[in-house]
Amino acid sequence: MAETATAEKVAKKKEKPAPRIEVIDEFCKGCNICVDICPTNVLEMKPDPTRWVGAVVVVTRPEACTRCMLCEIHCPDFAIKVY
Ligand code: SF4
Ligand code: SF4
Repeated sequence: MAETATAEKVAKKKEKPAPRIEVIDEFCKGCNICVDICPTNVLEMKPDPTRWVGAVVVVTRPEACTRCMLCEIHCPDFAIKVY
């Protein structure tokens, strides 16, 4: 009984919440750096003619994110955050 409770506690500790990726649309200039650098193809460029840059990055496969932070580190405009 006590062993089961301990095993459950350990399992809970190991569980991490899924990564949350936030794109700050106003800052994104559609340069494609984050799309190119993401090793698991989480991000895509979406055409948006209403924007002066003509495109904005969108998160299409959040479940594939490994929280490697490459997108956040390389974005020149601080437009993408990973939590
Ligand atoms: S690197 Fe930054 S500015 Fe460039 S497309 Fe990605 S979020 Fe937008
Ligand atoms: S943190 Fe890594 S895996 Fe997740 S979206 Fe950014 S580059 Fe892709």
